[in-house]
Amino acid sequence: MKVEILGCSGGMGLGQQTTCYRINEHTLLDAGSGLGNLPQKELLKIETIFITHSHLDHICFLPLLIDNLFEFIKKPIQVYALPEALDTLQEHIFNWKIWPDFSTLPNATNPVVNFNPVKIGEKITVKGISYTPFPVEHIVPTCGYHLQSDTGKSLAFTGDTTYGEQVVKTINQLGQLDVLMTECAFPDRLFELGKVSKHLTPTMVEDLINNLEQPPREIWLSHLKPSQQLEIRSELEKLDLKATRLKVLEPCTHFQV
Ligand SMILES: [Zn+2]
Ligand SMILES: [Zn+2]
Repeated sequence: MKVEILGCSGGMGLGQQTTCYRINEHTLLDAGSGLGNLPQKELLKIETIFITHSHLDHICFLPLLIDNLFEFIKKPIQVYALPEALDTLQEHIFNWKIWPDFSTLPNATNPVVNFNPVKIGEKITVKGISYTPFPVEHIVPTCGYHLQSDTGKSLAFTGDTTYGEQVVKTINQLGQLDVLMTECAFPDRLFELGKVSKHLTPTMVEDLINNLEQPPREIWLSHLKPSQQLEIRSELEKLDLKATRLKVLEPCTHFQV
């Protein structure tokens, strides 16, 4: 599977856009401001979007995407998320005050977008890749997605999460991963803030990897806060992750998994 890193920052700034990844050109994982890196003709290829949670940095370009594509959409864009996240989106974004409710436009029987609730553990298959939601630990209801390709490749994207026993247990259940794509929002100096806001710091990343029964072959990190980026990167360089190769993601790059 082709994984394009459109946005992987924990904030904004020149060259810094928030979480959005594209899988095989037609599917998105989250719809943060990184989505703005795609030209219109590439946006037109998007058919399916998996959302991890309702925080703004993960959904901010979803309303604009649907609006951009409105006149061109032949079949509804399928948006998947936990029911709680969908409720939040409908109540606070697609509420006719912040943005129109596109799930009823141009009419309710033939809308441009369908909001589909996911269930933990229930896989959704899109063009040869399955996406199975798994629980993580964040400040609002959040799920990660376990991607498995028909060529046997396995990638887990946690979205935002902190470190905890439950997260280790859940990732263990996913089996051997080629890639664990997760976050590292804060430096260890802000460990307590990481715990309270339910994000990861470098030490937590190390604990997570070293407590897994089968460490992933690679770990890809994103969501570094722009103002603390250098500090986080230098702490990450000192980690001892044994069998796992660590990569800090850069925007507008892509990988074959
Ligand atoms: Zn979040
Ligand atoms: Zn976030």
